[in-house]
Amino acid sequence: MNVNPNFEKLPGSYLFAEIARRVKEFQAADPAADILKLGIGDVTRPLAPAVVDAMKRAADEMLSAGTMRGYGPDFGYDFLVNAIIAHDYTARGVELEFDEVFISDGAKTDSSAIQELFSSDAKIAVTDPVYPVYVDSNAMAGRLGEYKDGRWTNLTYLPCNAENNFVPEPPRGHVDVIYLCYPNNPTGTTLTKEQLKPFVDYAHREGAVIVYDAAYKAFIRSDVPRSIYEIDGAKDVAIECNSFSKTAGFTGMRCAYSVLPHAVKGRGGNGRPMELNAMWKRRMGTRFNGVSFPVQRAAAAVFTPEGWAQCMEAVEYYLRNATMIRSELLAMGYTVFGGIDAPYVWLKTPTADSWAFFDELLRKAHVVGTPGAGFGPSGEGYLRLTAFNTNEKTREALQRIKEL
Ligand SMILES: *Cc1c(COP(=O)(O)O)cnc(C)c1O
Repeated sequence: MNVNPNFEKLPGSYLFAEIARRVKEFQAADPAADILKLGIGDVTRPLAPAVVDAMKRAADEMLSAGTMRGYGPDFGYDFLVNAIIAHDYTARGVELEFDEVFISDGAKTDSSAIQELFSSDAKIAVTDPVYPVYVDSNAMAGRLGEYKDGRWTNLTYLPCNAENNFVPEPPRGHVDVIYLCYPNNPTGTTLTKEQLKPFVDYAHREGAVIVYDAAYKAFIRSDVPRSIYEIDGAKDVAIECNSFSKTAGFTGMRCAYSVLPHAVKGRGGNGRPMELNAMWKRRMGTRFNGVSFPVQRAAAAVFTPEGWAQCMEAVEYYLRNATMIRSELLAMGYTVFGGIDAPYVWLKTPTADSWAFFDELLRKAHVVGTPGAGFGPSGEGYLRLTAFNTNEKTREALQRIKEL
């Protein structure tokens, strides 16, 4: 058996392993050091009581033959799909058909699997820095060429940096697929409708598709779109991945949803239009048997008035941390981005080397961030701090950075 040769081309999952190694080494040398982690990329607040109640009630239904559920519908239970359409889309002026929404176990799952619908020579573009999932899933499928000097030879990088105020330009030449994630991980920045429109126009002009990851939309408080479908014409060219992970603390529960409008089409043999929606149904029917009934009931409870209020308490908690990180760093004189509509703050490191600044923060302040270089070539010179630690520890970490 020959293995998939593309796996040999992948760089190791270097970033978080290397961070863990450096933290461990430092802790071993200085066991008394109280290390504060502002690199956490996972939620830490407990689940909403309304969500847990719904899950318990669903678990009880599994106790009797009359109400137990076996295999659910491949694309999700009606009660959850309808709640998503009403709450996330109809309420914001976006009309969706019932069968355009697909329930899954993760936005990572969907955003990494969606490339199965693209031809093996599809040209891919990503914003840079980037959530590594979009890149690695296409690399595994052999679309990205070779990894040399920190870049894939066959991937279009759309730089996002202080110079362009983190507003990427659409690709110069032709690509088939553009991945966008807003509010952005890792930079915490957002795009306005006017800034997203050129991407939708590009996709129309080039026959390209946008994969839009809106996993952090619940953190939006400014006047920026929560969905790509708020941009005119997007329903013809964009699919959207959403998740309960960050909205409702579901990282350990696993529930997400993707939207594939019927109007989004690729080209089949002889240029025949192919609905991505129909292809995704075919794929999900083959590869997926749905999210568990209790978890889908729990997810639906997120959209009840009390469930939503409880979930937003946790989101507001993180947003208070983000505001504090942002404003304190600004007051210290750092150049800072993000942290307004997202749980991430992206700061320009005083020296160009983001790993050197990571080491300095660790050694002198005992604070752990995430070096920007780990998220792509344009991440060099930046560091990500996250808002997922407690208020108290976040405050303490900022105090220590101030004393540097
Ligand atoms: C956390 C996160 C997700 C959520 O992924 P799940 O698989 O739903 O937990 C999706 N996209 C980005 C960019 C994320 O940071």
